[in-house]
Amino acid sequence: MTSQELLGKLVGFDTVSRESNLALIEFVRNYLSQHGVDSELIHNEDGSKANLWATIGPADRGGVVLSGHTDVVPVDGQPWMLPAFEMTERDGKLYGRGTTDMKGYLACVLAAVPSFKAAKLETPVHLAFSYDEEVGCLGVRSIISMLEDRPHKPLACIIGEPTELKPVLGHKGKLGVRCRVHGAPCHSAYAPEGVNAIETAAKMIVRLNQIGDRLADPAHHDERFYPPFSTVQTGVIEGGRALNIVPSECRFDWEVRSLPGFDANEVEREMRDYADNELLPRMRAIEATTDIVFEPLQAYPGLTTEASSEVARLIATLAGRDDFGTVAYGTEGGLFHEAGIPTVVCGPGCMDQGHKPDEFIAIEQLERCDAMMQRLVEHLSA
Ligand SMILES: [Zn+2]
Repeated sequence: MTSQELLGKLVGFDTVSRESNLALIEFVRNYLSQHGVDSELIHNEDGSKANLWATIGPADRGGVVLSGHTDVVPVDGQPWMLPAFEMTERDGKLYGRGTTDMKGYLACVLAAVPSFKAAKLETPVHLAFSYDEEVGCLGVRSIISMLEDRPHKPLACIIGEPTELKPVLGHKGKLGVRCRVHGAPCHSAYAPEGVNAIETAAKMIVRLNQIGDRLADPAHHDERFYPPFSTVQTGVIEGGRALNIVPSECRFDWEVRSLPGFDANEVEREMRDYADNELLPRMRAIEATTDIVFEPLQAYPGLTTEASSEVARLIATLAGRDDFGTVAYGTEGGLFHEAGIPTVVCGPGCMDQGHKPDEFIAIEQLERCDAMMQRLVEHLSA
């Protein structure tokens, strides 16, 4: 099957992150087994989703991981003109949810399987297809921990997120945190007798904002990234029942988008210090049961690969260019990188079309990715 035909099949599976991806995984497993390739499935806890891992070529050494996620973002509330889970071709473009992010890459990898199989590969390729990437890079973690127990560590990893096939060596990391402020309610006419959870949350948000200003200092800039500094923002806040009640509950969600090399946990530590040493003593002087609770929402590390590394040279050869860039979005690459597997991001399509209604990928992008896969076959052959 061609990459276009395969993409049509993959788009036909509704693999929005909240759904099971098992039907897609079964399809891929059958396809691989028809080409004489065995797959390993690594299920989630309740067995409703799975990662797929497969190796083509010699099994007694590490190879090149071709990594992509099988899940897609929802289409709810988006004005789609074309069907989301049925591929439509128009004017050299293929429409459907996941065409660009990132079933297009998976389709090109699968289309190259017969070539990988037929070649005398000196170095193996590994297929790593994950679930739950779009909800915090969750699924791939069990692939990476499985690899840690294997005798041969992969040599390199190519994450096929859409970069229009430009080689990308870095992205920021992310830390998402939920804070719950438990105050003490009372009639608003006696406001000083209560502990106002919203006002406490507001103080914390102002503090986050000040930390953000500090991180934006030009002394910390890394011009490879845009914006060239780590950022902090609060995205959700909820609290209060009525104006005449001092609110007892407020929760807010905030995130840090950190430059590689900056530990976002430092922000959380500073916020916990502020809560423990400045806010809580005053709150508890009024009501002993008040509290501020921090809950992790999601986190993934940044990616930073050196331009002089072997994996950078490999992707430059495959992509036919060495104008390395960075991307603003996160990928599973930071987790591979953290596990000691040299990683780059390079895949077909453009993220401008990702996560949007009438998502599409240009056929020309698939063709160029097919050609890149053929160069990889040659590169890994004897
Ligand atoms: Zn993606």
